[in-house]
Amino acid sequence: MKRLTLLILILASLTAQASVEVVTRVVARDQSFRAQIRQLPLRHLISDVAVDGEFFKVVKGKGEEAVRFDDADKDLVMRAATAYYHLNLAREYFIDKMKSQYVEGLPKMVVRVELTNQFNELGKFANDNLTPQFNNALTIPAGKGLASRGVKPWDMEIWFRPQKRVHVDTLKIKGGALGDWGSVLSAFRKQMHMTSLQRFLAGLAQAELNRDTPMYDNFYSWENVLRTAGTSIMLEAVYQFADPLSRAFSRKWFWLDSALVPEIIYHEYAHVALSDHLVLSHSSAVIEGMADFFAGQIANSANLATRIKDYNTFNGKKAKKNESYMVQFETSDYANSDFVFGMLWDLKKILGDELAPDFVYNLREKINTNSTIRNQFIEGIIDTCNDRCANPFVDKLRILQRYDSRGI
Ligand SMILES: [Zn+2]
Repeated sequence: MKRLTLLILILASLTAQASVEVVTRVVARDQSFRAQIRQLPLRHLISDVAVDGEFFKVVKGKGEEAVRFDDADKDLVMRAATAYYHLNLAREYFIDKMKSQYVEGLPKMVVRVELTNQFNELGKFANDNLTPQFNNALTIPAGKGLASRGVKPWDMEIWFRPQKRVHVDTLKIKGGALGDWGSVLSAFRKQMHMTSLQRFLAGLAQAELNRDTPMYDNFYSWENVLRTAGTSIMLEAVYQFADPLSRAFSRKWFWLDSALVPEIIYHEYAHVALSDHLVLSHSSAVIEGMADFFAGQIANSANLATRIKDYNTFNGKKAKKNESYMVQFETSDYANSDFVFGMLWDLKKILGDELAPDFVYNLREKINTNSTIRNQFIEGIIDTCNDRCANPFVDKLRILQRYDSRGI
């Protein structure tokens, strides 16, 4: 008996050693969706000196060593800890709620903060002197590497770019003075959802760097920003409840500290979790809308849900301008993830809050990154309804009626 107790004690201490918990500064939201700096435990760590865990290792820039808790740059540590904390939440969501075996079987991920390099499919990091990237985040696909250049194969990674300040006057919007970022973002949502807000904002920082080049007037159409789209409604919500380091919303200066924004972290991890069917080759309205749907689910905030319901461009009651479907939504230049996001969020009205996430998760099996809204995406929804709706015949009709009313 004594032996058994001893064995149990040893086993318990071994397990405890395998997973360390460190309490540190993390940005998280309170009940009213406001971002606050809190002391929270990082779980599943395998180190008590650095942000290195069973499922995620957070490194700085192109480095390979995990960010240390005693790094002199306290904001860097908080960025690494915040990304780590919310990535674990997102991973657990897909395993516990969506029962994803794919996510459960994924190898440990490298996550980078403060990385400015563009992504290169052959070499992973594009050359340092190519336009550096700021104010956004992206998820890169795994790569085979390039033996001749000494580039080893890599798995999927999530990259968070550093923040860069841009003045509101840099923005040239018809109608002149808009004041602060709050009114800029709101005007953007009302007038210009034909292009993605985050791509636009990221481009803005680059335009600042290239004032004397033709890029300055052409940043809307930049194609080198991969999968950074997301939806404008989500980003605007993020701004209104900005992270405590930025407090950008009421100011004349804009910057986005993507590693400190829970919903951006969830959005990027959703790309990872959906990548068994939605491969990370390029951005499309469909995959951005899907990723934001899960970002909204994982955020699990009544406040955010109300905003999405009221302001989405598909059928939000308070949206200044409800978009009807347009063929332009299908092309990559005008990828309109807001519309897709609204369509997915709307499924809750028919399927209920409980069933909708499971439905949307299964929908990924019926579509791919190249799916168009009008064809494969709708077909996928109808097909998923055959498998999963409580009353497929009635529910399919209700779904199609709603789409019909928006010109699809
Ligand atoms: Zn995305």
